[in-house]
Amino acid sequence: MISDQMEWDSPMYAEAVAQFENVSEVMNLDDNVRERLKRPQRAMVVTFPFRRDDYKEVDTLFGYRVQHLLTMGPTKGGIRYAEDVNLGEVAALAMLMTWKCAIVGLPFGGAKGGVRVNPRGLSRSELQRVTRRYTAEIINFIGPEQDIPAPDLGTDEQVMAWMMDTYSQHAGHSVPGVVTGKPPELGGTIARREATGRGVISLLPSSASHVGMNVSGARVVIHGFGNVGRYAAIAATELGCSVIAVSDISGGVYNSNGLEIAKLGKWVDENGVVEGFGGGDVITQEELFALDCEVLVPAAVGGVLHADNASSVKARIVLEGANNPLTLDADEIIRDQGGFIVPDVLCNAGGVTVSYFEWVQDVQKYFWSENEIVGRLREIMSRAFQEVLAIAEDKKVDMRTAALIKGIKRVTDAKLVRGVYP
Ligand code: GLU
Repeated sequence: MISDQMEWDSPMYAEAVAQFENVSEVMNLDDNVRERLKRPQRAMVVTFPFRRDDYKEVDTLFGYRVQHLLTMGPTKGGIRYAEDVNLGEVAALAMLMTWKCAIVGLPFGGAKGGVRVNPRGLSRSELQRVTRRYTAEIINFIGPEQDIPAPDLGTDEQVMAWMMDTYSQHAGHSVPGVVTGKPPELGGTIARREATGRGVISLLPSSASHVGMNVSGARVVIHGFGNVGRYAAIAATELGCSVIAVSDISGGVYNSNGLEIAKLGKWVDENGVVEGFGGGDVITQEELFALDCEVLVPAAVGGVLHADNASSVKARIVLEGANNPLTLDADEIIRDQGGFIVPDVLCNAGGVTVSYFEWVQDVQKYFWSENEIVGRLREIMSRAFQEVLAIAEDKKVDMRTAALIKGIKRVTDAKLVRGVYP
């Protein structure tokens, strides 16, 4: 029996394990596999220096990359830049990536990485130096056949371009398949940026028909207006919904008649934040969660709905665009109130699904049309949703438990058939 003391222990890691344990219990999971899956296979901590624009100043930063499971193929998952990133958070999110990839049937295990830095406090050249040095520190552990990073909180296409360039310089030739979410000029795929938000909303019609609600005219509230929230807002508007409130770190805006999303997008492009947009009233984050609406999309950071505020949620459908936006308490409270929750591991899997398409295109050097990408994304998302719903109905469990049953079962089957080496 090995000691339970774990370097990646943190509240978020404990939540991810608790969630896994609950589902393992329902599944009556093999004990050996259960113990194994609770711990990441590889967890790396690096520290590295980077030079500030003021040449004399050199800061030291922490970086992480966790590969939860190497059984299914290369590992896959984003890189986040945030002031509070830590090993426990990254390890928890790597585990969620394993389930997410397995739920939608991608040939990847989960990974996650990050640098503990506030990207807003860096100039463009500082951001570039941080990215290149972090990439160099983890270079032996990433690669198209090994581990494939992607954007996450605080990182974007440009950061992926610098990662790809750094890796390629070291390899001596261009290696586009080492990261996904790159600019199209470098082998990035069209429709990747919109993929997560589009994927989230692609599950709205099936969710609505399941709870007996009309999509057209449904009032949608979105927490976050970044890579996920913004494109979810556009997709919801295209479906005929009314997006009545949106917020980001600067604050929120509410208009009971529906916000003009195109105008809000233009405002954010010009000003960087939602704050100051004239198309509605100012609203706080807590007021936003409590709004009268049919659909709530938490699409920013983790843990925003918890034991203290979950009972204020009135939405009938909660689509988890962010990773881990609800604590386990919040999940239970909202379900007890009759809310239908589509969990992150299913709901936001559109991002990694189109990342998979990008990787396939890079490796094959053969690029697809936008229609092919969007069509295949919809097909994968809706098939996964129907399969998860069938498990939920059959086993009389909620959607999160059902999704995890599907993901954990796929991984367990693969582990058992591969066996233990040596
Ligand atoms: N960071 C995204 C996620 O959490 C995407 C990961 C990827 O595309 O590899 O799902």
